Order: sequence, then structure tokens, then C-alpha cells
Amino acid sequence: MATLPKKTVNVPFADLSYPTGAVKKTYIAAVKKFLDGGNFILSKEVEEFEKKWAKYCGADFALGLSSGGDAIYVALKILDVGKGDEVITQGNAYNATVTAIMRTGAKPRFADIDPETLTINPEKILPLINEKTKVILPVHLYGLVADMERISKIAEQNKLFIVEDCAQAHGAKREGKKAGIWSEIAAWSFYPTKNLGAFGEAGAITTKSEKYFQRGVALRNLGQEGKNNHKYFGFNMRLDGLEAIALSLKLPFLNDWTEKRIEAAEFYDELIDEVFDGEVAAPPKISSAKHIYHLYAITLKKGLDRNLIQKNLSKQAVQTAVHYPVPVYKQPFFAEKTDKCPITEDLCSRILSLPIFFGITRKQQKYVVESLRNSIPII
Ligand SMILES: *Cc1c(COP(=O)(O)O)cnc(C)c1O
Repeated sequence: MATLPKKTVNVPFADLSYPTGAVKKTYIAAVKKFLDGGNFILSKEVEEFEKKWAKYCGADFALGLSSGGDAIYVALKILDVGKGDEVITQGNAYNATVTAIMRTGAKPRFADIDPETLTINPEKILPLINEKTKVILPVHLYGLVADMERISKIAEQNKLFIVEDCAQAHGAKREGKKAGIWSEIAAWSFYPTKNLGAFGEAGAITTKSEKYFQRGVALRNLGQEGKNNHKYFGFNMRLDGLEAIALSLKLPFLNDWTEKRIEAAEFYDELIDEVFDGEVAAPPKISSAKHIYHLYAITLKKGLDRNLIQKNLSKQAVQTAVHYPVPVYKQPFFAEKTDKCPITEDLCSRILSLPIFFGITRKQQKYVVESLRNSIPII
């Protein structure tokens, strides 16, 4: 393999300086204009971004919201999910995915994942379906779209809704179809580190249904249909105008940033293939999927000490993270431990996210893999 760098190279887990730099000037100019406009809440900038985001996703409607977790909550509320209902998701979801379900009063149920893809296993959804089940909520983890063809069939046969958690899947595809168009409603996060990120909190839902969209418009704005006509029990979950400006300015770069991320991931794949002999596995490759590598999560061989490996990497100035070390249903706050997902639990203990971001250099990546090699005992 190519010679690896010997000197220490700092590799942060994520670095937002490139995507921020790309829009900094135009953003500051746009903020000045926004301030002069004096119209701060649900201003035209929000609607402009919503139109652009719907178009990007191939959806008919997009609704800007306050965060990704709120987007999941609003999606479920639009579908009238509440107390007495069950929503099937996966244990290796983000905490916000599960708490959004719980906020509606519904009960989250956990289907185990497919060990090959780390996304929800359609076969494991079936046994959880009962008369209370209302929604299947797959998470397109790390940027790989779940097996939506099979999940769609299951939903159709059992008359269930699908809500996709697309927080890590901006522009990802499976079977040629984009993330977010497989479901009644898709939820997006624009948290700053996401593939498309704002400069603060932001999220959205997308849908093909005008009825769902209109209900969302009311729900995010205190349930109002027209001024002071509070048709629904609503809340304030509006997208902020300044975040909408940032998102509109960044969106034209998203495809390019995504391609660069994929190239970086493929370079990691090559390096891992050259350097390791089964100690670590690169992320899955599904021929029909366009993985957009929001995260580049490797799987460590059973028996390796992840904490120690992370510490060793940190000593070499390489920052890593784990998404997620414990299934949500095993977190202290989660009281009712009904579902057990052995494959999820095993993989949660062995995954490790390597640094990936727009702007990471080949030199940094070589150094990461070299440092990883140095951090793992040869078995
Ligand atoms: C980031 C994320 C969320 C929540 O998004 P916020 O904007 O932080 O609320 C939900 N689900 C997944 C899978 C995420 O990665």
C-alpha cells in the first residue's frame, strides 16, 4: 500500500469549516437583508427553503420545523399517533427518534436489525405487529436506506403507516428511489453536523400528501388554522428564518459534498481492505443502495476492546465516536424493557465511527487507518 504518514496528523471527528466557509460571505449578506426586512417569524425565507427541499427530495411538500426530533414527533402527530398506539422502530436509533415516539404517548417497540446492514430487519418487524401497531419507523442509519421494498409490503399488508427517519440520509437512495419517498411522511434533521446542516437547530418533514402537509402547517404553529382558530392541540415547532437562509445557501452544494463524502468512504474501504485481515469490517455495501455516509462506522471483530482502541486513537490525535453504544431501550430513562434485540446489542458493542466530513484529506484518512492499525493487537 501507499506509504503511510509517520508524523502525527490531527484528525477531528467532524470539521465544519469547509461547508461553513462555502457560504459564510453570502450568509452574512443575507442576514443583513433579513434584519432590514424586519419580518422574522415564518418569513418568506422559510417557504423558499421548503420549496427547494421538497424539490430536492422529490416530494410534493416540505415543512420546515425546529429540529429533527420535532420533525419525527410532528410526523406522528399528523398521523394521529397517540396513547394506546405502538410504533415499531429499531434499538440502534438515535435517542431523539425514540423520545419523539414517546412524546406522542405511543409505545415504541424494537425490532432487531439485519447484521449485514445494521438497518431494521423486515422479518423482525412481523412478530411485533398487533392491533395496536400504527406505524413502522425505520432509521436510515449512517446514510444507508433500509430495505424499504420489503418494509413497504409489510406496511401495505398490515395497513400500517411508515414514517422514515431520514436524519442521516440526505440524498441517499435505494432501488433508484430517494430516501423519504417510501413513506407517508419522512422526517429530516439539519443539525449542524448532518450532511445538510444549519447553523443551529433545524428540521423538516416531507410528504406527497397535501392533507398531511396542511395539518403539519397548523400543528407547528400552535394548531392554528387561520389566526386565533386553534383547530388542533398544537405547539411552536417552526423553522427559524435564519436557519432557512443557511439551508437554502448550502443546498446547492449538497450533491458535491455528498460525492466527496462517498469518495472518502471508498478510500477508507480500500485502506481497510489493504491493512486489515478481519480485525475490522468496513461498512456494508448494498449494490442497489446509494449510501451517503453521514457516518463511516466500522465493525470491530468480537473480543476487541473498543474503549481501549478509542483511547489509543485519541492518543494519536484521532477522534472517533460511537453511534450508538447502547440500544435506546437499555438507556436508564427507558423503564419498560419489553423487547430484546440480541443482534442490535452485539453490534452496538462493536461499532466505531471513524472521522468523515467534507474536506477530510487523503493524508488524514491514511493516518486514521495507520493509527487504527497501531491501536489493535494483531490477532
Ligand atoms: C440527528 C438525528 C435525529 C434528531 O435530530 P435533531 O435535529 O438533533 O433533533 C433523529 N434521528 C437520527 C437518526 C439522527 O441522526
